[in-house]
Amino acid sequence: MPKEFSIAMPQSVGDVLRGHLIRDDYEEDLSFALWTPSYGSNRLTALIHSPILPTEGDRQRHGNASFNPQYFERVCSLALREAAGIAFLHSHPGSGWQDMSRDDLNAELKLSGATMGLTDLPLVGLTVGHDGTWSGRFWTHVHAKGYERKWCRNVRVVGGRLQAFFSDQLAPKPEFRNLFKRTVTVWGEENHANLARLRIGIVGLGSVGSMVAESLARMGFENFVLLDFDEVQPHNLDRLLGAMEKDIGKLKIDVAERQIRRSATARHPVIAKIPFSIAEEPGYRAGLDCDVLFSCVDRPRPRYILNHFAYSHLIPVIDGGVAVRFKGGEFSGVDWQLQTVGPDHPCLSCLGAFDMGDVATEVEGKLDDPSYLQGLANDHRFKRNENVFPFSSNLASLEVLQLISLSTGIAGISDFGVQRFRYLPGILDADTERTCLRDCEFTSMIAQGDRHFALFGRDIGAELARARQTSNKSKSKRSA
Ligand SMILES: [Zn+2]
Ligand SMILES: [Zn+2]
Repeated sequence: MPKEFSIAMPQSVGDVLRGHLIRDDYEEDLSFALWTPSYGSNRLTALIHSPILPTEGDRQRHGNASFNPQYFERVCSLALREAAGIAFLHSHPGSGWQDMSRDDLNAELKLSGATMGLTDLPLVGLTVGHDGTWSGRFWTHVHAKGYERKWCRNVRVVGGRLQAFFSDQLAPKPEFRNLFKRTVTVWGEENHANLARLRIGIVGLGSVGSMVAESLARMGFENFVLLDFDEVQPHNLDRLLGAMEKDIGKLKIDVAERQIRRSATARHPVIAKIPFSIAEEPGYRAGLDCDVLFSCVDRPRPRYILNHFAYSHLIPVIDGGVAVRFKGGEFSGVDWQLQTVGPDHPCLSCLGAFDMGDVATEVEGKLDDPSYLQGLANDHRFKRNENVFPFSSNLASLEVLQLISLSTGIAGISDFGVQRFRYLPGILDADTERTCLRDCEFTSMIAQGDRHFALFGRDIGAELARARQTSNKSKSKRSA
């Protein structure tokens, strides 16, 4: 049984449903929709993908609406054909997260048995208020007692903007503290409550990841999932925020956690540390527990997986990278590029941020094979990893600004597009016109979860890192 429940839908689907359910005369209406499950380590998310709006004769409206059996039968046969779950949605004239009336409870309770029997997935119930706020719940099977309502921690609408509607009961609004007063006065308490409660996954706690973490902790974010299997090495110390010489050999996630706790302005930050790669099942599932992911990795395979998450699992990913250039052995320039990916944004594959051939090379373990790397030219992309603290800190700052605009839309902008800083001539370019290529496989799988494939498996780089850490530990024990 999952510890937590959530619902996510693409903005395009949300627009269709709201357009039908929210009526100018404030009368209630209803609809069904189909969903696919997304299984994280602790969270089950219903990915709503297909609205099945009622047609004439499917329902009666009389203040509050009720549906006819033929409508539910039609929904059942579509759900069976698509091997999908069933969601029942209705509207209320009120605003904010909605509670349920006795009629609501009876209607959903009645549907929950038939739905589970047919689809083997729990019924999902949603209510939308007149202000567009979604609230949601799952009806899970409890032995003998029948079905029980489990409220969602949040309902997320993902597109050009990320709207997350939280249950104030399961995710209480952050208590105002003078510690983050200057931050809150910039965007207001409501935006702050929506930002601070997002569960943020940071994939890679190197230079960029450590600075993203610092920024979020200072602003009052409460919920972190830190993913990295690597330990601090001497060559990290010129860029790794919070790391000291005595940290060499410690896991980067342990150093990051210490730094977040030092800087946090939230009263009780919750930090999950995952010493695995996003390509290994524990890392993959922990990633699927998040509301937003920062891709702070410099490898093709995690980018490929995160790109899949952004579309198939509706978790927006903020990705960036630094590319330093040399000419005849001399520094000749540097660019850093960043982008938010997910529905209504161009994907990392279409933007050329990773290459499928490189993903295959990484899966084979060649990027961790010294003899393979030795055979490559010195300026090969697999061998380039030059970086300097201000490159990374500027990139990290721009990435956090993309999150703020995505979630709040403050000053009327929610999407900065693909941004690229060019050291020569010192200019930040923004491209808001890019879209995916017409035959993009990622955008064709929006809200499909892992129906077609799951992308976890072995990660040779992570296995080698853990073996190295174990042998370092036993060496230091022997010398002690
Ligand atoms: Zn109701
Ligand atoms: Zn694409």
